[in-house]
Amino acid sequence: MEPIYGIDLGTTNSCIATIGEDGLPTVIKNLEGKNTTPSVVFYEDEDGVFVGEEAKYSMNGEPERSVAFIKREMSKPGYTRDIDGQIVTPVDASALILKKVFDDANQQLSEDGKDPIKKAVVTVPAYFGNMERELTKQAAQIAGIEILDLLNEPTAAALNYGTKGLEGKTFMIYDLGGGTFDVSIMRMKNGVLDTLSTDGDHQLGGIDWDISLLDYALLTCGLDITYNDIKDERDAGKMLNDVEQCKKRLSKNDKAMFKFVYKRKQYTCEVSRSLFEEITADLLNKTINIVNHAINISRDPSANIDEIILVGGSSYMPMVKEKLKKIFSCPIRLDNLEPDLAVAKGAALHASRLAGDKTTSVEIGNDMGSRSYGILCIDCNDKNKFFVSNIILRTDDLIHDSKHTFETAFDGQTSVNISIYENKMTEKYVNPDLCTLVRSGDINWGYGVPAHTTVSVVVSRSSDSTVKIWCECQGVKIDFELDYKGMYSDEEIEKKRKLLATKIV
Ligand code: AMP
Repeated sequence: MEPIYGIDLGTTNSCIATIGEDGLPTVIKNLEGKNTTPSVVFYEDEDGVFVGEEAKYSMNGEPERSVAFIKREMSKPGYTRDIDGQIVTPVDASALILKKVFDDANQQLSEDGKDPIKKAVVTVPAYFGNMERELTKQAAQIAGIEILDLLNEPTAAALNYGTKGLEGKTFMIYDLGGGTFDVSIMRMKNGVLDTLSTDGDHQLGGIDWDISLLDYALLTCGLDITYNDIKDERDAGKMLNDVEQCKKRLSKNDKAMFKFVYKRKQYTCEVSRSLFEEITADLLNKTINIVNHAINISRDPSANIDEIILVGGSSYMPMVKEKLKKIFSCPIRLDNLEPDLAVAKGAALHASRLAGDKTTSVEIGNDMGSRSYGILCIDCNDKNKFFVSNIILRTDDLIHDSKHTFETAFDGQTSVNISIYENKMTEKYVNPDLCTLVRSGDINWGYGVPAHTTVSVVVSRSSDSTVKIWCECQGVKIDFELDYKGMYSDEEIEKKRKLLATKIV
Protein backbone atom coordinates (compact mmCIF):
# COMPACT_ATOMS: atom_id res chain seq x y z
CA MET A 1 0.00 0.00 0.00
CA GLU A 2 1.20 3.50 -0.84
CA PRO A 3 2.56 5.28 2.26
CA ILE A 4 1.11 8.76 2.90
CA TYR A 5 2.08 11.38 5.47
CA GLY A 6 -0.19 12.97 8.02
CA ILE A 7 0.82 16.58 8.72
CA ASP A 8 -0.31 18.75 11.61
CA LEU A 9 0.27 22.30 10.35
CA GLY A 10 0.10 23.94 13.76
CA THR A 11 -0.06 27.58 14.81
CA THR A 12 3.03 27.19 17.01
CA ASN A 13 4.50 23.83 16.06
CA SER A 14 4.08 21.45 13.15
CA CYS A 15 4.48 17.70 13.12
CA ILE A 16 4.59 14.91 10.52
CA ALA A 17 3.75 11.23 10.96
CA THR A 18 3.26 8.08 8.96
CA ILE A 19 2.34 4.49 9.66
CA GLY A 20 5.39 2.55 10.87
CA GLU A 21 6.33 -1.02 10.12
CA ASP A 22 4.46 -2.10 13.28
CA GLY A 23 1.23 -0.70 11.75
CA LEU A 24 1.10 2.11 14.33
CA PRO A 25 1.31 5.84 13.61
CA THR A 26 4.79 7.15 14.25
CA VAL A 27 6.14 10.68 14.23
CA ILE A 28 9.14 11.34 11.99
CA LYS A 29 11.70 13.57 13.68
CA ASN A 30 12.98 16.66 11.86
CA LEU A 31 16.65 17.05 10.92
CA GLU A 32 17.27 18.67 14.30
CA GLY A 33 16.11 15.44 15.93
CA LYS A 34 12.85 16.90 17.31
CA ASN A 35 9.32 15.55 17.05
CA THR A 36 7.85 18.97 16.35
CA THR A 37 9.08 21.92 14.29
CA PRO A 38 8.30 25.51 15.36
CA SER A 39 5.96 27.07 12.77
CA VAL A 40 8.29 30.05 12.41
CA VAL A 41 9.87 31.45 9.23
CA PHE A 42 12.85 33.78 9.23
CA TYR A 43 13.60 35.69 6.02
CA GLU A 44 17.36 36.21 6.00
CA ASP A 45 17.50 37.84 2.56
CA GLU A 46 15.69 37.49 -0.75
CA ASP A 47 16.95 33.94 -1.31
CA GLY A 48 17.65 32.65 2.17
CA VAL A 49 14.97 31.47 4.55
CA PHE A 50 15.16 29.57 7.82
CA VAL A 51 12.24 27.54 9.05
CA GLY A 52 11.74 25.93 12.45
CA GLU A 53 14.08 25.91 15.44
CA GLU A 54 16.68 28.15 13.82
CA ALA A 55 14.02 30.65 12.71
CA LYS A 56 12.61 30.74 16.24
CA TYR A 57 16.09 31.45 17.56
CA SER A 58 16.79 34.14 14.92
CA MET A 59 13.44 35.76 15.68
CA ASN A 60 14.87 37.09 18.96
CA GLY A 61 17.40 39.30 17.22
CA GLU A 62 15.36 40.43 14.24
CA PRO A 63 11.64 40.11 14.91
CA GLU A 64 10.89 42.25 11.84
CA ARG A 65 12.28 39.47 9.60
CA SER A 66 10.31 36.66 11.24
CA VAL A 67 6.84 35.30 10.74
CA ALA A 68 5.21 33.35 13.59
CA PHE A 69 1.60 32.40 14.45
CA ILE A 70 0.76 32.86 10.76
CA LYS A 71 -2.12 30.37 10.92
CA ARG A 72 -4.02 32.93 12.96
CA GLU A 73 -3.94 35.25 9.93
CA MET A 74 -5.16 32.70 7.37
CA SER A 75 -8.72 33.94 7.78
CA LYS A 76 -7.85 37.61 7.23
CA PRO A 77 -8.29 38.30 3.51
CA GLY A 78 -5.55 40.53 2.15
CA TYR A 79 -3.22 40.07 5.16
CA THR A 80 0.43 40.46 4.14
CA ARG A 81 3.79 41.16 5.77
CA ASP A 82 6.33 43.35 4.05
CA ILE A 83 9.78 41.97 4.87
CA ASP A 84 12.41 44.16 3.24
CA GLY A 85 10.20 44.70 0.22
CA GLN A 86 9.27 41.02 0.01
CA ILE A 87 5.50 40.65 0.34
CA VAL A 88 4.68 37.53 2.35
CA THR A 89 1.16 36.09 2.62
CA PRO A 90 -0.03 33.48 5.15
CA VAL A 91 -0.10 30.99 2.25
CA ASP A 92 3.56 31.69 1.38
CA ALA A 93 4.75 31.28 4.97
CA SER A 94 2.61 28.15 5.52
CA ALA A 95 4.08 26.66 2.32
CA LEU A 96 7.59 27.09 3.75
CA ILE A 97 6.63 25.40 7.03
CA LEU A 98 4.97 22.50 5.22
CA LYS A 99 7.99 22.12 2.93
CA LYS A 100 10.38 22.01 5.88
CA VAL A 101 8.55 19.19 7.70
CA PHE A 102 7.87 17.31 4.46
CA ASP A 103 11.44 17.55 3.10
CA ASP A 104 12.97 16.66 6.50
CA ALA A 105 10.78 13.57 6.73
CA ASN A 106 11.66 12.49 3.19
CA GLN A 107 15.34 12.99 3.92
CA GLN A 108 15.03 10.74 6.97
CA LEU A 109 13.34 8.10 4.80
CA SER A 110 16.09 8.29 2.18
CA GLU A 111 18.74 7.84 4.90
CA ASP A 112 16.89 4.65 5.85
CA GLY A 113 17.05 3.58 2.19
CA LYS A 114 13.34 4.21 1.60
CA ASP A 115 11.58 6.00 -1.28
CA PRO A 116 10.28 9.51 -0.65
CA ILE A 117 6.55 9.94 0.05
CA LYS A 118 4.69 12.36 -2.22
CA LYS A 119 1.23 12.63 -0.68
CA ALA A 120 -0.16 13.90 2.60
CA VAL A 121 -3.29 14.51 4.61
CA VAL A 122 -3.01 17.94 6.25
CA THR A 123 -5.05 18.91 9.31
CA VAL A 124 -6.97 22.17 9.78
CA PRO A 125 -8.93 23.61 12.71
CA ALA A 126 -12.56 22.48 12.64
CA TYR A 127 -13.67 26.12 12.55
CA PHE A 128 -11.72 26.88 9.36
CA GLY A 129 -14.17 27.95 6.64
CA ASN A 130 -13.91 27.01 2.97
CA MET A 131 -11.64 29.96 2.26
CA GLU A 132 -9.01 28.99 4.86
CA ARG A 133 -9.21 25.36 3.72
CA GLU A 134 -8.58 26.33 0.11
CA LEU A 135 -5.64 28.52 1.18
CA THR A 136 -4.16 25.62 3.18
CA LYS A 137 -4.42 23.43 0.07
CA GLN A 138 -2.63 26.08 -1.98
CA ALA A 139 0.16 26.26 0.62
CA ALA A 140 0.61 22.48 0.31
CA GLN A 141 0.68 22.68 -3.48
CA ILE A 142 3.36 25.39 -3.37
CA ALA A 143 5.34 23.15 -1.00
CA GLY A 144 5.20 20.43 -3.68
CA ILE A 145 2.93 18.16 -1.64
CA GLU A 146 0.17 16.21 -3.31
CA ILE A 147 -2.66 16.82 -0.91
CA LEU A 148 -4.98 13.87 -0.49
CA ASP A 149 -7.40 15.32 2.02
CA LEU A 150 -7.81 17.98 4.69
CA LEU A 151 -8.86 16.62 8.06
CA ASN A 152 -10.33 18.50 11.03
CA GLU A 153 -7.81 18.59 13.89
CA PRO A 154 -10.18 17.28 16.61
CA THR A 155 -11.24 14.44 14.31
CA ALA A 156 -7.56 13.60 13.80
CA ALA A 157 -6.95 13.59 17.55
CA ALA A 158 -9.95 11.32 18.11
CA LEU A 159 -8.71 8.92 15.41
CA ASN A 160 -5.42 8.63 17.28
CA TYR A 161 -7.27 7.63 20.44
CA GLY A 162 -9.93 5.71 18.51
CA THR A 163 -8.80 2.21 19.13
CA LYS A 164 -8.26 2.88 22.84
CA GLY A 165 -11.74 2.31 24.23
CA LEU A 166 -13.94 5.10 22.88
CA GLU A 167 -16.56 2.77 21.35
CA GLY A 168 -20.07 3.73 22.44
CA LYS A 169 -18.84 6.87 24.16
CA THR A 170 -19.65 10.57 23.79
CA PHE A 171 -16.43 12.46 24.36
CA MET A 172 -14.92 15.90 24.17
CA ILE A 173 -11.69 16.85 22.48
CA TYR A 174 -10.27 19.88 24.31
CA ASP A 175 -7.41 21.16 22.14
CA LEU A 176 -5.45 24.07 23.60
CA GLY A 177 -2.45 24.75 21.38
CA GLY A 178 -0.01 27.62 21.16
CA GLY A 179 -2.25 30.09 19.39
CA THR A 180 -5.65 28.51 19.04
CA PHE A 181 -8.30 26.72 21.04
CA ASP A 182 -10.61 24.11 19.53
CA VAL A 183 -13.27 22.00 21.17
CA SER A 184 -15.37 19.22 19.66
CA ILE A 185 -18.01 16.93 21.06
CA MET A 186 -17.85 13.59 19.30
CA ARG A 187 -19.36 10.13 19.50
CA MET A 188 -18.00 6.77 18.45
CA LYS A 189 -20.68 4.20 17.60
CA ASN A 190 -20.14 0.88 15.86
CA GLY A 191 -16.66 1.99 14.85
CA VAL A 192 -17.92 5.21 13.20
CA LEU A 193 -16.85 8.60 14.50
CA ASP A 194 -19.51 11.35 14.45
CA THR A 195 -19.04 15.02 15.30
CA LEU A 196 -21.86 16.42 17.45
CA SER A 197 -20.58 19.97 17.70
CA THR A 198 -17.49 22.02 17.32
CA ASP A 199 -16.41 25.46 18.47
CA GLY A 200 -13.23 27.39 19.12
CA ASP A 201 -11.31 30.64 19.31
CA HIS A 202 -8.40 31.15 16.96
CA GLN A 203 -7.05 34.03 18.99
CA LEU A 204 -6.63 32.05 22.22
CA GLY A 205 -3.71 29.77 23.06
CA GLY A 206 -0.49 29.27 25.01
CA ILE A 207 0.92 32.57 23.74
CA ASP A 208 -1.78 34.41 25.74
CA TRP A 209 -0.64 32.63 28.93
CA ASP A 210 2.95 33.66 28.07
CA ILE A 211 1.96 37.30 27.59
CA SER A 212 -0.05 37.37 30.85
CA LEU A 213 2.94 35.99 32.75
CA LEU A 214 5.29 38.44 31.05
CA ASP A 215 2.99 41.37 31.82
CA TYR A 216 2.91 40.28 35.45
CA ALA A 217 6.73 40.11 35.56
CA LEU A 218 7.13 43.54 33.94
CA LEU A 219 4.77 44.99 36.51
CA THR A 220 6.33 43.37 39.57
CA CYS A 221 9.80 44.37 38.40
CA GLY A 222 8.68 47.99 38.54
CA LEU A 223 8.60 48.57 34.77
CA ASP A 224 5.54 50.55 33.92
CA ILE A 225 5.01 48.75 30.59
CA THR A 226 3.28 45.71 29.11
CA TYR A 227 4.34 43.31 26.34
CA ASN A 228 2.23 45.33 23.88
CA ASP A 229 4.39 48.38 24.52
CA ILE A 230 7.57 46.50 23.60
CA LYS A 231 6.49 43.83 21.16
CA ASP A 232 8.40 45.38 18.25
CA GLU A 233 11.59 45.83 20.25
CA ARG A 234 14.47 43.38 20.02
CA ASP A 235 14.26 42.36 23.69
CA ALA A 236 10.65 41.28 23.28
CA GLY A 237 11.25 38.07 21.27
CA LYS A 238 13.80 36.73 23.75
CA MET A 239 11.60 37.71 26.70
CA LEU A 240 8.71 35.83 25.17
CA ASN A 241 10.84 32.72 24.58
CA ASP A 242 12.16 32.82 28.14
CA VAL A 243 8.78 33.40 29.70
CA GLU A 244 7.46 30.41 27.72
CA GLN A 245 10.20 28.26 29.28
CA CYS A 246 9.25 29.57 32.72
CA LYS A 247 5.59 28.68 32.01
CA LYS A 248 6.62 25.15 31.01
CA ARG A 249 8.66 24.76 34.20
CA LEU A 250 5.57 25.73 36.16
CA SER A 251 3.79 22.70 34.67
CA LYS A 252 6.29 20.50 36.54
CA ASN A 253 7.32 22.59 39.55
CA ASP A 254 5.49 24.70 42.12
CA LYS A 255 7.81 27.66 41.55
CA ALA A 256 9.97 28.98 38.73
CA MET A 257 12.38 31.87 38.17
CA PHE A 258 11.98 34.21 35.24
CA LYS A 259 15.02 36.26 34.28
CA PHE A 260 14.94 38.81 31.50
CA VAL A 261 16.93 41.69 30.08
CA TYR A 262 15.25 44.97 29.21
CA LYS A 263 17.26 47.92 27.91
CA ARG A 264 20.48 46.18 29.01
CA LYS A 265 19.33 45.77 32.58
CA GLN A 266 18.74 42.33 34.07
CA TYR A 267 15.56 41.58 36.03
CA THR A 268 14.58 38.49 38.03
CA CYS A 269 11.18 37.45 39.24
CA GLU A 270 10.00 34.34 41.05
CA VAL A 271 6.55 33.00 40.22
CA SER A 272 4.57 30.29 41.95
CA ARG A 273 2.25 27.99 40.05
CA SER A 274 -0.74 29.15 42.10
CA LEU A 275 0.00 32.78 41.27
CA PHE A 276 0.40 31.92 37.59
CA GLU A 277 -2.96 30.18 37.72
CA GLU A 278 -4.52 33.21 39.37
CA ILE A 279 -3.27 35.70 36.77
CA THR A 280 -4.38 33.52 33.87
CA ALA A 281 -7.71 32.35 35.33
CA ASP A 282 -9.67 34.56 32.91
CA LEU A 283 -8.01 32.85 29.93
CA LEU A 284 -8.87 29.40 31.25
CA ASN A 285 -12.43 30.55 31.91
CA LYS A 286 -12.68 31.66 28.29
CA THR A 287 -12.02 28.07 27.21
CA ILE A 288 -14.68 26.83 29.65
CA ASN A 289 -17.26 29.25 28.20
CA ILE A 290 -16.49 27.87 24.74
CA VAL A 291 -16.77 24.29 26.07
CA ASN A 292 -20.21 25.12 27.51
CA HIS A 293 -21.29 26.68 24.24
CA ALA A 294 -20.13 23.59 22.33
CA ILE A 295 -22.25 21.42 24.67
CA ASN A 296 -25.27 23.72 24.22
CA ILE A 297 -25.12 23.61 20.43
CA SER A 298 -24.41 19.86 20.31
CA ARG A 299 -26.79 17.75 18.28
CA ASP A 300 -27.42 15.83 21.48
CA PRO A 301 -27.09 18.46 24.24
CA SER A 302 -28.47 16.14 26.92
CA ALA A 303 -25.82 13.47 26.31
CA ASN A 304 -23.35 13.01 29.14
CA ILE A 305 -19.70 13.52 28.32
CA ASP A 306 -18.15 10.10 29.07
CA GLU A 307 -14.56 11.15 28.59
CA ILE A 308 -12.40 14.19 27.87
CA ILE A 309 -9.30 13.98 25.71
CA LEU A 310 -6.77 16.76 26.11
CA VAL A 311 -4.84 17.76 23.00
CA GLY A 312 -2.37 20.58 22.24
CA GLY A 313 0.81 21.49 24.08
CA SER A 314 -0.93 23.91 26.46
CA SER A 315 -2.97 21.02 27.87
CA TYR A 316 0.20 20.12 29.80
CA MET A 317 -0.61 23.02 32.15
CA PRO A 318 -2.01 21.29 35.28
CA MET A 319 -4.68 23.99 35.64
CA VAL A 320 -6.45 22.68 32.53
CA LYS A 321 -7.02 19.20 33.87
CA GLU A 322 -7.84 20.47 37.35
CA LYS A 323 -10.47 22.90 36.10
CA LEU A 324 -12.13 20.32 33.86
CA LYS A 325 -12.09 17.80 36.73
CA LYS A 326 -14.07 20.22 38.90
CA ILE A 327 -16.76 20.61 36.22
CA PHE A 328 -16.94 17.12 34.71
CA SER A 329 -16.88 13.90 36.68
CA CYS A 330 -15.66 11.81 33.73
CA PRO A 331 -12.12 10.51 33.10
CA ILE A 332 -9.73 12.97 31.49
CA ARG A 333 -6.95 11.60 29.31
CA LEU A 334 -3.63 13.30 28.89
CA ASP A 335 -0.78 11.42 30.51
CA ASN A 336 1.65 9.56 28.27
CA LEU A 337 -0.44 10.23 25.22
CA GLU A 338 1.65 13.11 23.88
CA PRO A 339 -1.05 15.68 23.20
CA ASP A 340 1.27 17.62 20.88
CA LEU A 341 1.71 14.62 18.55
CA ALA A 342 -1.86 13.26 18.57
CA VAL A 343 -3.13 15.30 15.61
CA ALA A 344 -0.32 14.33 13.22
CA LYS A 345 -0.67 10.67 14.21
CA GLY A 346 -4.43 10.80 13.64
CA ALA A 347 -3.83 12.34 10.21
CA ALA A 348 -1.44 9.48 9.37
CA LEU A 349 -4.14 6.98 10.40
CA HIS A 350 -6.69 8.70 8.17
CA ALA A 351 -4.15 8.77 5.32
CA SER A 352 -3.61 5.05 5.65
CA ARG A 353 -7.36 4.42 5.56
CA LEU A 354 -7.61 6.53 2.40
CA ALA A 355 -4.82 4.44 0.92
CA GLY A 356 -7.01 1.39 1.44
CA ASP A 357 -6.07 -0.01 4.87
CA LYS A 358 -9.37 -0.17 6.75
CA THR A 359 -7.82 -1.90 9.75
CA THR A 360 -5.69 0.91 11.17
CA SER A 361 -8.37 3.51 11.81
CA VAL A 362 -12.06 3.97 12.54
CA GLU A 363 -14.42 5.38 9.92
CA ILE A 364 -15.34 9.07 9.92
CA GLY A 365 -19.11 9.43 9.89
CA ASN A 366 -21.09 12.61 10.23
CA ASP A 367 -18.98 15.72 10.10
CA MET A 368 -20.25 19.28 10.24
CA GLY A 369 -19.90 22.43 8.23
CA SER A 370 -17.94 25.25 9.81
CA ARG A 371 -20.13 28.14 8.68
CA SER A 372 -23.83 29.03 8.57
CA TYR A 373 -25.39 30.72 5.53
CA GLY A 374 -28.47 32.90 5.42
CA ILE A 375 -30.46 35.39 3.38
CA LEU A 376 -30.86 39.07 4.23
CA CYS A 377 -34.50 39.84 5.11
CA ILE A 378 -36.48 42.96 5.95
CA ASP A 379 -38.15 43.00 9.36
CA CYS A 380 -41.95 43.02 8.73
CA ASN A 381 -42.59 45.07 11.88
CA ASP A 382 -40.04 47.75 11.09
CA LYS A 383 -39.17 47.95 7.42
CA ASN A 384 -36.02 49.95 8.13
CA LYS A 385 -34.55 46.97 9.97
CA PHE A 386 -32.78 43.94 8.49
CA PHE A 387 -31.82 40.51 9.78
CA VAL A 388 -30.19 37.42 8.29
CA SER A 389 -32.34 34.29 8.22
CA ASN A 390 -30.03 31.28 8.23
CA ILE A 391 -31.02 28.56 5.77
CA ILE A 392 -28.17 26.21 6.67
CA LEU A 393 -26.51 26.12 10.07
CA ARG A 394 -22.95 25.16 10.82
CA THR A 395 -24.37 22.66 13.32
CA ASP A 396 -26.34 20.92 10.53
CA ASP A 397 -24.90 17.75 9.04
CA LEU A 398 -22.17 18.53 6.53
CA ILE A 399 -24.19 16.87 3.76
CA HIS A 400 -27.45 18.75 3.84
CA ASP A 401 -30.48 19.59 1.64
CA SER A 402 -33.43 21.77 2.67
CA LYS A 403 -36.20 23.97 1.25
CA HIS A 404 -37.33 27.37 2.58
CA THR A 405 -39.93 29.95 1.67
CA PHE A 406 -39.66 33.70 2.01
CA GLU A 407 -42.06 36.49 1.00
CA THR A 408 -41.73 39.79 -0.81
CA ALA A 409 -42.04 42.74 1.58
CA PHE A 410 -43.82 45.48 -0.41
CA ASP A 411 -46.83 45.76 -2.72
CA GLY A 412 -45.90 46.17 -6.38
CA GLN A 413 -42.39 44.65 -6.20
CA THR A 414 -41.09 43.76 -9.67
CA SER A 415 -37.87 42.16 -8.41
CA VAL A 416 -36.26 40.90 -5.24
CA ASN A 417 -32.65 41.09 -4.14
CA ILE A 418 -31.07 37.91 -2.76
CA SER A 419 -28.03 38.57 -0.58
CA ILE A 420 -26.28 35.53 0.90
CA TYR A 421 -24.43 36.06 4.18
CA GLU A 422 -21.88 33.74 5.80
CA ASN A 423 -21.65 33.59 9.61
CA LYS A 424 -20.46 31.48 12.51
CA MET A 425 -23.71 31.67 14.46
CA THR A 426 -25.87 28.72 15.39
CA GLU A 427 -29.16 30.64 15.68
CA LYS A 428 -31.76 30.88 12.93
CA TYR A 429 -32.03 34.69 12.97
CA VAL A 430 -28.86 36.75 13.12
CA ASN A 431 -27.82 40.40 13.18
CA PRO A 432 -26.26 41.24 9.76
CA ASP A 433 -23.38 43.00 11.55
CA LEU A 434 -22.18 39.55 12.67
CA CYS A 435 -22.19 38.21 9.11
CA THR A 436 -20.18 38.64 5.89
CA LEU A 437 -21.84 39.18 2.52
CA VAL A 438 -20.60 36.46 0.14
CA ARG A 439 -22.91 36.66 -2.91
CA SER A 440 -25.73 38.89 -4.11
CA GLY A 441 -28.06 39.00 -7.12
CA ASP A 442 -31.57 40.04 -8.21
CA ILE A 443 -34.54 38.01 -9.40
CA ASN A 444 -36.32 40.34 -11.83
CA TRP A 445 -39.74 39.32 -13.25
CA GLY A 446 -40.69 42.83 -14.42
CA TYR A 447 -44.32 43.31 -13.24
CA GLY A 448 -45.76 44.28 -9.85
CA VAL A 449 -46.95 41.59 -7.43
CA PRO A 450 -48.66 41.96 -4.03
CA ALA A 451 -46.64 41.88 -0.82
CA HIS A 452 -46.19 38.36 0.66
CA THR A 453 -45.60 36.76 -2.76
CA THR A 454 -43.61 33.55 -2.23
CA VAL A 455 -39.87 33.38 -2.91
CA SER A 456 -38.65 29.75 -2.79
CA VAL A 457 -35.14 28.84 -1.75
CA VAL A 458 -33.42 25.46 -1.90
CA VAL A 459 -30.00 24.91 -0.30
CA SER A 460 -27.62 21.99 -0.57
CA ARG A 461 -24.21 21.34 1.00
CA SER A 462 -21.98 18.55 -0.33
CA SER A 463 -19.25 16.55 1.41
CA ASP A 464 -16.55 18.94 0.15
CA SER A 465 -18.44 21.80 1.93
CA THR A 466 -19.53 23.48 -1.31
CA VAL A 467 -22.90 25.19 -0.76
CA LYS A 468 -25.37 25.64 -3.64
CA ILE A 469 -28.45 27.84 -3.33
CA TRP A 470 -31.32 28.01 -5.86
CA CYS A 471 -33.93 30.83 -5.55
CA GLU A 472 -37.14 31.29 -7.51
CA CYS A 473 -39.97 33.87 -7.67
CA GLN A 474 -42.70 34.13 -10.33
CA GLY A 475 -40.96 31.46 -12.41
CA VAL A 476 -37.69 33.44 -12.61
CA LYS A 477 -34.64 31.77 -11.06
CA ILE A 478 -31.22 32.66 -9.78
CA ASP A 479 -28.61 30.34 -8.29
CA PHE A 480 -25.37 30.65 -6.36
CA GLU A 481 -22.46 28.29 -5.87
CA LEU A 482 -20.39 29.18 -2.82
CA ASP A 483 -17.01 27.76 -3.67
CA TYR A 484 -13.70 29.45 -2.96
CA LYS A 485 -10.90 29.71 -5.44
CA GLY A 486 -8.06 30.49 -3.05
CA MET A 487 -5.72 33.44 -3.63
CA TYR A 488 -3.36 32.15 -6.32
CA SER A 489 -4.02 30.92 -9.87
CA ASP A 490 -2.62 27.54 -10.96
CA GLU A 491 0.17 29.36 -12.85
CA GLU A 492 1.11 31.41 -9.78
CA ILE A 493 1.19 28.26 -7.63
CA GLU A 494 3.47 26.52 -10.12
CA LYS A 495 5.77 29.56 -10.27
CA LYS A 496 5.96 29.76 -6.49
CA ARG A 497 6.54 26.00 -6.21
CA LYS A 498 9.54 26.20 -8.52
CA LEU A 499 10.91 29.22 -6.66
CA LEU A 500 10.48 27.51 -3.29
CA ALA A 501 12.35 24.41 -4.43
CA THR A 502 15.54 26.47 -4.19
CA LYS A 503 14.79 28.23 -0.93
CA ILE A 504 15.16 26.52 2.44
CA VAL A 505 18.62 26.84 3.95
P1 AMP B 1 1.00 23.08 20.10
O1 AMP B 1 0.46 24.20 19.23
O2 AMP B 1 0.01 22.01 20.36
O3 AMP B 1 2.32 22.57 19.64
O4 AMP B 1 1.27 23.74 21.53
C1 AMP B 1 2.26 24.67 21.73
C2 AMP B 1 1.96 25.38 23.00
O5 AMP B 1 2.01 24.47 24.08
C3 AMP B 1 2.95 26.49 23.30
O6 AMP B 1 2.26 27.64 23.78
C4 AMP B 1 3.78 25.89 24.41
O7 AMP B 1 4.31 26.88 25.26
C5 AMP B 1 2.75 25.04 25.12
N1 AMP B 1 3.38 23.98 25.92
C6 AMP B 1 4.12 22.95 25.48
N2 AMP B 1 4.56 22.20 26.52
C7 AMP B 1 4.07 22.78 27.63
C8 AMP B 1 4.17 22.50 29.03
N3 AMP B 1 4.88 21.47 29.48
N4 AMP B 1 3.52 23.33 29.88
C9 AMP B 1 2.82 24.39 29.44
N5 AMP B 1 2.68 24.70 28.15
C10 AMP B 1 3.31 23.92 27.25
